[in-house]
Amino acid sequence: MSHAAKPVQSVKDRWPLQRLAVGDDEQQMLARRREPEPAHAYRTPFVRDCGRILHARAFRRLAGKTQVFARGQRESDHLRSRLTHTLEVAQIARTLATALGLNAHLAEALALVHDIGHPPFGHAGERALDAALRPHGMRFDHNLHALRIVTSFEQRHAGYMGLNLTLGVREGIIKHSREYAADAHPELAEYFLDELPPVEAQIIDLVDEIAYLTADMEDGLEAEILHLEQVRAELPLFDAAYREAERLHPQAGSRLLRNDALKTILNRLVTDLMEELQRRTAGMDSLTTVRRCGSRVAAFSDAVAAERQRMRQFLYRELYESAELEAEHQRAGEIVGTLFAEWVADPERMPADHAARAVSEGAARAVTDYLAGMTDSYIEQAWQRHLAGR
Ligand code: MG
Repeated sequence: MSHAAKPVQSVKDRWPLQRLAVGDDEQQMLARRREPEPAHAYRTPFVRDCGRILHARAFRRLAGKTQVFARGQRESDHLRSRLTHTLEVAQIARTLATALGLNAHLAEALALVHDIGHPPFGHAGERALDAALRPHGMRFDHNLHALRIVTSFEQRHAGYMGLNLTLGVREGIIKHSREYAADAHPELAEYFLDELPPVEAQIIDLVDEIAYLTADMEDGLEAEILHLEQVRAELPLFDAAYREAERLHPQAGSRLLRNDALKTILNRLVTDLMEELQRRTAGMDSLTTVRRCGSRVAAFSDAVAAERQRMRQFLYRELYESAELEAEHQRAGEIVGTLFAEWVADPERMPADHAARAVSEGAARAVTDYLAGMTDSYIEQAWQRHLAGR
């Protein structure tokens, strides 16, 4: 038996981005909570945030919210909800953060919370709320809505409002997929608006995209809005992965081959993100350099970015904006817009606590918060009551 010494792998090689992670020092700073709390005996601040998000009512409601397909409108029980999408994002984020030596608990908390501000009926619901708010001089912004959920709407603890999450998680919430100009948002001053978020927050946007591009492809095929031959013809990346799966498993049926192909694509996107992150951060030695380097370091390579763009365009054209889903979106828009107008005109029709907020914060804001918190089935019930004239 050979006893040749194995090359010793340095920590730096095993954890290529550990030097940029939210480590102990930054964790001290980013672990600040609005209401100070004593440290937990064995859970780090971000582990506690994962738990608080997972146990929140708004998190449970994600089970009843549209990812792509409105809940309860189709025969399949297998199409993703916003909750199962969220769990898939968390799984990928945790894997990627761990492999890179980043702070996996911060990444996981950010993944778990990333869609918590989404209204019912997915992006159609979001667009309808935004359109309803505009005449009132306001916009619907799901990042800011998510921040309001975790800082005030969730009432679970005797000692503080909301979930009292760490500063690091709240920063990640508002920097999900966008930046806010510091001068336009003085109320967000504590969130380092002049700086980029840590790598753990930056990866969430792309992991979200990796998760939904591959999952929506599967669900679109499952719902028979997309068709295998069409996907193969239009997406060379998918076709190549499918042919490779076929070569390895000549006896397998098309459904399993398709799943293998999507798994290959997911793996390719994640690996590319990890490699490109390492390339873009070469020479950076701390979180501070990431925060001040001018542009986000989490990105795909040019080649993969082009493939991803092709997938996005295909999904928009053939799935998200397909005639079949557009009919659902129109109906969703009508429901949200009609209920909004009805309750803004008469806030007393809402439950008492929401009606009271209409007095203190204005009807448009209170109605939006009430509507945005709803699941697909809850708003559907309100719609049926509206149609029945009750
Ligand atoms: Mg998402």
